[in-house]
Amino acid sequence: MSLLSKRASDFGTTIFTEMSALATKTGAINLGQGFPDHDGPLEVAEAAIAAIQSGRNQYPPGRGFPEFCEAVASHQRHWYGLELNPATDVVATTGASEALFASVFATVNPGDEVVVFAPYFDIYVPAIRWAGATHRTVTLTAPDFRITADAIRAAVTDRTRAIIFNSPHNPTGRVFDSSELQAIADVAIEQDLVVISDEVYEHLVFDNARHTPIATLPGMFERTITISSMGKSFAFTGWKVGWASGPEPLMSGLLGIKQFVTFASGAPLQLGAAAALALPDSYFSDYAAWLQARRNQLVAGLDAAGFGLVQPQGTYFVTTDVRPLGFNDGLDFCQKLPELAGLVAIPLETLYDRKPGEESAGKALVRWAFCKQESVLTEAVERLGQLAR
Ligand code: PMP
Ligand code: GLN
Repeated sequence: MSLLSKRASDFGTTIFTEMSALATKTGAINLGQGFPDHDGPLEVAEAAIAAIQSGRNQYPPGRGFPEFCEAVASHQRHWYGLELNPATDVVATTGASEALFASVFATVNPGDEVVVFAPYFDIYVPAIRWAGATHRTVTLTAPDFRITADAIRAAVTDRTRAIIFNSPHNPTGRVFDSSELQAIADVAIEQDLVVISDEVYEHLVFDNARHTPIATLPGMFERTITISSMGKSFAFTGWKVGWASGPEPLMSGLLGIKQFVTFASGAPLQLGAAAALALPDSYFSDYAAWLQARRNQLVAGLDAAGFGLVQPQGTYFVTTDVRPLGFNDGLDFCQKLPELAGLVAIPLETLYDRKPGEESAGKALVRWAFCKQESVLTEAVERLGQLAR
């Protein structure tokens, strides 16, 4: 008999771990897993160091240090006009990942259903399944990856409890527009659903795109858990400090779960996060502008190599179709890519539902990360030249 539960191997190894290992093994440039090859702002690191040195190292309150909760509340007011009570409407978490898990466990009962949009970030489905619930997928298809009210309604049943929504969207780079947000809000209100809104890329938007938290739509605040983290907008992915915000009843429920998972998170790093959240607007626009230049660089290289793609409006990522280069299968393409061009990318097939005997809507799609130094992308683009037909 196995010493392990079935759960332990339910989902295998994440594609991000697998592809990072492939990059290490082959020495290829890793444009797979989404992490920057640079640190976030020095003053943020210094605020965390100062917190360590000044003895902020014991368990903080489960919700987070008051300075942290106040910083999240001020950030939501400043950027989005959302009014939060820092004493009741914020919970500090171990990355957005814990916030997502705790949100699902706090709102979903066994037998319930949760709507997700594919391609989806890979932890949503395990969280739903391990809560004893089932996911119902709205499949977004290339090249436009649009959400429609009809598609959402088709996925909702009388068992649906929640919708997990992510914008700016990993992996497509879409910043969903106001009509798509409204479609989700309409269904959520009509069916009395919770929306778990993953906004970890909230500040990483390009051109004229704007990020609007779905909690700001009429009737939505009271049913939305908004989630973000230090990982992406501040380029500190390894800190694993995140936060959830929303109305008091939902935050209390989330805390009810969190207290028995991690109890509290990252004391001194919360004070680094408080410094980050209070950075001047210029930090956010400068980082987005820098990243936009990196996007332009990589997108130009992918375009010249012949990939089909849609310009991403946000995130760290661009999704491409490999068929114009004569490949049919993104997974196979990614496995060969280190040898073909000294690069690593992520196949989207694993971020869609896989049904036996059915071709995945992500089969020919591959994601590339551009959160890398200019010189690294220059080299990557040169290597992409080897793929051009
Ligand atoms: N959601 C999305 C869409 C992500 O891309 C990530 C990045 N890993 C996370 C959640 C998890 O964030 P964290 O590392 O803060 O747990
Ligand atoms: N969010 C990162 C990505 O999409 C990966 C984080 C992880 O490895 N879980 O690449």
